[in-house]
Amino acid sequence: MMIETNSPKETCEMGYNIGKNAKKGQIYCIKGDLGVGKTVFTKGFAAGLNIEENVSSPTFTIVNEYHEGRLPLYHFDVYRISDSDEMYEIGCEEYFFGDGVCLIEWAELIEDILPENVIWIVIEKDLEKGLDYRKINIAEKGKK
Ligand code: ADP
Ligand code: MG
Repeated sequence: MMIETNSPKETCEMGYNIGKNAKKGQIYCIKGDLGVGKTVFTKGFAAGLNIEENVSSPTFTIVNEYHEGRLPLYHFDVYRISDSDEMYEIGCEEYFFGDGVCLIEWAELIEDILPENVIWIVIEKDLEKGLDYRKINIAEKGKK
């Protein structure tokens, strides 16, 4: 499925709708360059799970946990990870196979350790279509 947005608000709303329908055990892998809108999407996604707390990218830790919503949300930003082993050190398997929803910014950096069934959300710019244009592809298949 491909969706185009033309503002942060639209990307946030899209995240909201997906968060609203998110199910226990799902792993959302968000791929896209710095500043493309991964965190904007995530904020909407968290709101869709009824999380009212302000969600921002984890900077000093790899994962932030939110427990007050409809389902627990485990928000990862693995941009600064040195290698996939670091994911095992933080106990990623407990998150991946736990009772919440995982959302991973920069998931392509740890692709080798991701479970088979994840949902890829790929966000891209196209400057010819304007600064605020984003193309968002959602693929609910195996690894991509
Ligand atoms: P990332 O987490 O991918 O590094 P952020 O979500 O933190 O990026 O930032 C995205 C930036 O792009 C924000 O400043 C946001 O206002 C801007 N932006 C402009 N247009 C869009 C759009 N259509 N969707 C999402 N963000 C957009
Ligand atoms: Mg971010």
